[in-house]
Amino acid sequence: MTTQAAQSWLPYGRQSVEQEDIDAVAEVLRGDWLTTGPAVESFEEALAQAVGAPCVSVTSGTAALHVAYAGLGAGPGSEVVTSPFTFIATASSAALLGATVRFADVSDDTLNLDPQAAAALAGERTSVIAAVDYAGHPADLDELRSVADSVGARLLEDAAHSIGARYKGRPVGSVADATCFSFFPTKHMTTAEGGAVAAPDPAVLQAARRFARIGRDPQPQDTSQGAWWYEMSGFGLNYRLPDVLCALGAAQLRRLPAFLARRDELVARYDQLLSGVPGLRLPTRRADVEPAWHLYSVRVLDGRRREVFDRLRAAGIGVQVNYIPVYWHPVFADLGYRRGMCPVAEAAYAEQLSLPLFPDMTDADQDRVVEALRGVLDP
Ligand SMILES: *Cc1c(COP(=O)(O)O)cnc(C)c1O
Repeated sequence: MTTQAAQSWLPYGRQSVEQEDIDAVAEVLRGDWLTTGPAVESFEEALAQAVGAPCVSVTSGTAALHVAYAGLGAGPGSEVVTSPFTFIATASSAALLGATVRFADVSDDTLNLDPQAAAALAGERTSVIAAVDYAGHPADLDELRSVADSVGARLLEDAAHSIGARYKGRPVGSVADATCFSFFPTKHMTTAEGGAVAAPDPAVLQAARRFARIGRDPQPQDTSQGAWWYEMSGFGLNYRLPDVLCALGAAQLRRLPAFLARRDELVARYDQLLSGVPGLRLPTRRADVEPAWHLYSVRVLDGRRREVFDRLRAAGIGVQVNYIPVYWHPVFADLGYRRGMCPVAEAAYAEQLSLPLFPDMTDADQDRVVEALRGVLDP
């Protein structure tokens, strides 16, 4: 018998850092600017090129959401319609601004916000419709845009999973009014902690940037003062991503195409190796998108998700569950959000399992996952 416990731990996601990334960081550390320097600007420019809209860099994906909601005008008295099948920051950052969060159910195939469910909750109080590109598959952006337009709301896209993806040929980042990225180590590219907001409309980008830069205006209104003069025309936070991390981001961005290609390869291989395994439903994709796969998300049928999760973890395989419906968390439950609100999301939660997927994962690592999964479901 092989002692699986003796095998090394295989995480569900991890960063890929090579010498070129380390060199880029070291160069900034030896220079004059650790923060607010030229590496910030060059990273933001490179990012804008890649995602098709001007960008502001921030300290995390959570900060990106906070800044984007602020830039889009979510606040007290307004409502935000979003998916519960996401990391809590998609909803909590809007709640922090004083907006009321309304959870609309997801589509069963992609687990992305269902436009019809969103339409049913949208109304004159809606300020933002916030989609999530679950697992890296772009949401129904055109349909959600129509819903937003019909009530005079803006469209936000939480693209923490999907940098590099395309929706009907357009890069994610160029479609929504504000698109939020995360550079956490498990995501497609990393700055350790970090994130960004892309916004095609200069007014949205400026409002987002001001909130992320402590409320400071790039140009003061009063031009009669001395060179020391600046103006804070809003309340904001310090969400500046330092030069050290922007340099890492620029180096990672150069490697993004290779990261995405390897993820595609691994996804195709999972699809092939797992097809026909009983009790397992594999991810699907719509015809009009090019996903950037962050998760390989399967459904374990017949009430066996817990058993599969526990046995794979015991074998050293870092499976995850993404996600617990956001309104099940005590912070929302205590506000009166009730279980049963979004039955499709809750049914998906009961079956969902994320298998390891990251660019430095080897075919042998993947074979180990497949073998362990088959060992439970198809012995
Ligand atoms: C990771 C993630 C976030 C938050 O990003 P951080 O960089 O961890 O703050 C937000 N939304 C989704 C869907 C995520 O996966």
